[in-house]
Amino acid sequence: MLERARSLDAADPLAQFRERFDVPEGVVYLDGNSLGCLPRATPARLEQVVREEWGRNLIRSWNSADWIHLPQRVGGKIAPLIGAQPHEVIACDSVSVNLYKLISAALAMRPGRKVVLSEPGNFPTDVYMIEGLEKQGLAERRLVERDQLLEALDEDVALLLLTHAHYKTGELFNMEALTRAAHEKGALVLWDLSHSGGALPVHLADCKADFAVGCGYKYLNGGPGAPAYAFVATEHHIADNVEDSALRQPLSGWMGHARPFAFSDDYTPAAGVDSLLCGTPGILGLVALEVGVDLIAEIGIERLYAKSQKLSEFFRQCLAENGVEMELVSPSNPAERGSQLSFRHEEAYAICQALIARGVIGDFRDPDILRFGFAPAYLRFEDMAEAARHLAEVLDSGEWQRAEFQERAAVT
Ligand SMILES: *Cc1c(COP(=O)(O)O)cnc(C)c1O
Repeated sequence: MLERARSLDAADPLAQFRERFDVPEGVVYLDGNSLGCLPRATPARLEQVVREEWGRNLIRSWNSADWIHLPQRVGGKIAPLIGAQPHEVIACDSVSVNLYKLISAALAMRPGRKVVLSEPGNFPTDVYMIEGLEKQGLAERRLVERDQLLEALDEDVALLLLTHAHYKTGELFNMEALTRAAHEKGALVLWDLSHSGGALPVHLADCKADFAVGCGYKYLNGGPGAPAYAFVATEHHIADNVEDSALRQPLSGWMGHARPFAFSDDYTPAAGVDSLLCGTPGILGLVALEVGVDLIAEIGIERLYAKSQKLSEFFRQCLAENGVEMELVSPSNPAERGSQLSFRHEEAYAICQALIARGVIGDFRDPDILRFGFAPAYLRFEDMAEAARHLAEVLDSGEWQRAEFQERAAVT
């Protein structure tokens, strides 16, 4: 397998990009879907911003280094990766906070409707944010299994909120069909792209999506806790100073004001996605995210997705050749899943820990899922062969049974 893997690597048009990341020696990193690798350019760029822009130029850098437009600039670079126009995307806050803003805005745009429809087992923060709005009396949470979503879409639904690629299984929703079905019932649609943005091409405009949010620290390699991003389709932007039923988000902070430096007592939302800003953006986080986004854009999202599918299929072949039989919970057809493969095993947690001890880093998702993410920007086919070999050895030897692999850490 290793031979085969090496010849696939030799023929891989993206192989050169691994060098642009600081992938630690001896590590097979299959967790780029939780925290992307460090781009080699990031430390120097951060150092320059810290020492020069902050250290030397101080407050002047808001203008001279254009810090003030960094959320828009980074959002604009994310836009083509998700099928949006640059002025429709802004980088700010966390996914959770952006969900709150956009769910609230959607509810306000559908007076008389309160239901936010989603699926049970969606990423926790998505369903928690709906629950929070329900406790405020603003929303009604409706969770139905994914195959019953169409029936559950009725005239009470204000918003359909779904995660495009499921975080546990990687299963993809048909964005176009579900968006259309929701619109037919007069509902709006908000897509969480945390596991698809930067991993596979997303076509928000073609699918006529209303809103989207996504994550900066996963496939965009923005660093731990990197700012997230939010998308609002142009048709929902408010024109400057016009009071109408369009986009109104509830966190009316000064940075989302039309003229923050007028220091007025009254809030006038900025036009378009600028009104999604709340407080002062974290410049260091945005700077690091920009490096990651630039790199993904340079490699090209279509090429990345093509390689990700080849990697995951090759990984499955390697598992089969190593005699590993585990229940696949991801769709078997690569076109129906994101950039990951998840397997069910009673001892998934301990197996995951034993693999990590060998330098093969995947992750565990409660209660019994072993998840491997394939960030195609820096992974090699050789890594697939190595990971499969280690997994076979861990299972065959029973090494996972060691006491040290049973203890649960705070972050799994
Ligand atoms: C990772 C992830 C998030 C992260 O939310 P934060 O508020 O940025 O921590 C949200 N939704 C999904 C589907 C995710 O996978």
